[in-house]
Amino acid sequence: MSKNFKKSLFILLSSLVLIAGSYALANVNSSTTLRRANLDEEIQLLGNQQVDLSDSITILNNDEHDFDDDYENEDNIIKEIYEYNSQTDEGNDEIDYENKIEVESKPERIAFLTFDDGPTWNTDRILDILQEENVPATFFVIGDELLNFSDPQRILERILADGHYLGLHSMTHSYQTLYRGYGAAQRFVDEMLQLQGIIYDKVGHHTNLCRAPFGMMTGFRPGSGHREAVDEANLKCIDWNIDPQDWRNNSTMILEYLTNQINHTNIPPEIVIVLHEENSTVEALPAIIEFLRSLGYEFRAYEPGHEFIYQQHRF
Ligand SMILES: [Zn+2]
Repeated sequence: MSKNFKKSLFILLSSLVLIAGSYALANVNSSTTLRRANLDEEIQLLGNQQVDLSDSITILNNDEHDFDDDYENEDNIIKEIYEYNSQTDEGNDEIDYENKIEVESKPERIAFLTFDDGPTWNTDRILDILQEENVPATFFVIGDELLNFSDPQRILERILADGHYLGLHSMTHSYQTLYRGYGAAQRFVDEMLQLQGIIYDKVGHHTNLCRAPFGMMTGFRPGSGHREAVDEANLKCIDWNIDPQDWRNNSTMILEYLTNQINHTNIPPEIVIVLHEENSTVEALPAIIEFLRSLGYEFRAYEPGHEFIYQQHRF
């Protein structure tokens, strides 16, 4: 080989090496670029994953909320059980307490004052006396009287607000209509239910307590169907066992009648006194209350579930 050829070959080989080297370097560069791109992609992916992770965290947080709810629910259940037990305990205590009170303080003598045939212009006067004396009573109102009264709603509201009980005493108070002829039992019930509806409309108070005009002993004849009709209509009629006949007596006579019926030889444990709203009744009322208190009577208004005495005594 000539020296020139060797030189040329060296240059050629060097050039090849350079070219190859450059190519290799270029490749390295491009692969780096690729890897970078890949890394960027991976980072981006990781970023996305991070978003996913955030979602997961949110989900986990939500799960955590659910756990809280569970705890809360559990707490509530525990609370409920606790409250239930407490209530049960309290309930028992209350029952014991009530029994104790009943045993210790149940009055030996109870008087139910009942005022029939109102409302009248005396109703407020009677209510004033009862309020002053702190005596609860029961008022059996007549539907027609109520509708003709100047301010029926006010008087009904006062009766209830003062702690008295409201009862039904028919619409017409007509003996003929309520007790005579075919269908009297149904007419009796219809009048009571009509009045029941009127009272409910006026003051939102429901009462099924009724007093038969002239008394059941007078009006409810065997076979008339009154008792059955009353039961079917879920009405509860009550009579009385003390009658001072205030509708025909002056105040002195009212007290005389009363002391003839209740005296030291006859002091019933429970008395239901029938009164009306006469002037003589108003006059006698403070003395009636004083007399009954002197015999140890305590006054009560009717309470649903409390059984009044059914029989009627005639004097
Ligand atoms: Zn009456």
